[in-house]
Amino acid sequence: MKSRKTALGLCANLLLIGVLWTCLPYAGAQAQQSAPYPVVQGKYYKFEKIAEGVYYASPGFNGTSFPFGSNPFFGANLVVIVNKDDVLLVDSATTPRAARALLADIKLLTDKPVRTVVNTHWHYDHTDGNSVFGPEVQIIAHEYVRQAIEKFDILHNEPFRSSTRNAPQAMIDRFKKQIAAEKDPGQKAALEKKLADTQAAAKEFVQDIKEIKPTPPNVTYKDKLVLYRGGREIDLLFLGRGHTGGDTVVFLPKEKIVCTGDLMESRIAFMGSAFFDEWLTTLDALKRLDFAVDLPGHGAPFKDKSLITAFQSYITDILAQAAKLRAQGVSADDAAKRVDLRSHAKDFPDIETIGAEVRGVRRIYAWMDERGPKNK
Ligand SMILES: [Zn+2]
Repeated sequence: MKSRKTALGLCANLLLIGVLWTCLPYAGAQAQQSAPYPVVQGKYYKFEKIAEGVYYASPGFNGTSFPFGSNPFFGANLVVIVNKDDVLLVDSATTPRAARALLADIKLLTDKPVRTVVNTHWHYDHTDGNSVFGPEVQIIAHEYVRQAIEKFDILHNEPFRSSTRNAPQAMIDRFKKQIAAEKDPGQKAALEKKLADTQAAAKEFVQDIKEIKPTPPNVTYKDKLVLYRGGREIDLLFLGRGHTGGDTVVFLPKEKIVCTGDLMESRIAFMGSAFFDEWLTTLDALKRLDFAVDLPGHGAPFKDKSLITAFQSYITDILAQAAKLRAQGVSADDAAKRVDLRSHAKDFPDIETIGAEVRGVRRIYAWMDERGPKNK
């Protein structure tokens, strides 16, 4: 851990004098599954070079160890694909300001213009940067994404509503807890600095979300769309419903890279908009693709398809436990406190305690209601 902090501190110092710097590989949450990718550190985004012209972009402050005060609420990870003449982005960031910050940082990688944006799904942290792009940019997604952004009143519903309201406070509370538990004065001071940065960023975020104008894709597809950019083939695939009703998998067949949005993360995905049985089948279809690395919408790149099987096992387990509690007349909110998924923590270390995210369990109950008597 210490060497990681040193490496990042070095990156930050070089950043200050405006030098483009490739630093030591970053160790993410699933580091054991990641190859050591070279990193280009921008002001707000960190770019891991996965293949020639393919970069995995993560917001610069991930709540753990970034030393400068970038806004930690920039949300999802994105993929920047630099082609012969232009750039394609997979997802558009959480707010217009985050998208502008991304565009500024991309200048460290290339001067080529962004001409295509793919939204992997309709959730705010993947689409709310759409409004910064002019009409000359194709914003492409599954047709469900356009319908969702037009019909769901997404700024007043989940996941936007609770996530934007609660996430900043949750991060602030976490730092306060860590500060209270820290004995080492140096570490305590460092945490206090992070807390101050986070509090400042939370204030900015409140302003940032006021600027959001939900902007639907201007090109949609139903099953598959193949793009050719220079010598690169980029397949947009709808493999079935899962995390949402219209998840796109971006597949680069030559490079054997797949970008899965939140259909498959390296951590446990939000489940509040899910179609659970289809999600399992869709993940089977994902595993059949011939890819060597998965770039997820949150977490870190991973290579081992067994993580997908582990996530399927998590879904199956939470469904079974929720169904049992539901049959006993336990409410969704109480079931969320009682389901025990800790046996999956070996694959998903973010599972630290008993219980699961409440909106996901509410969705499981609603989905079982929609499916009718066979779940009663
Ligand atoms: Zn999502």
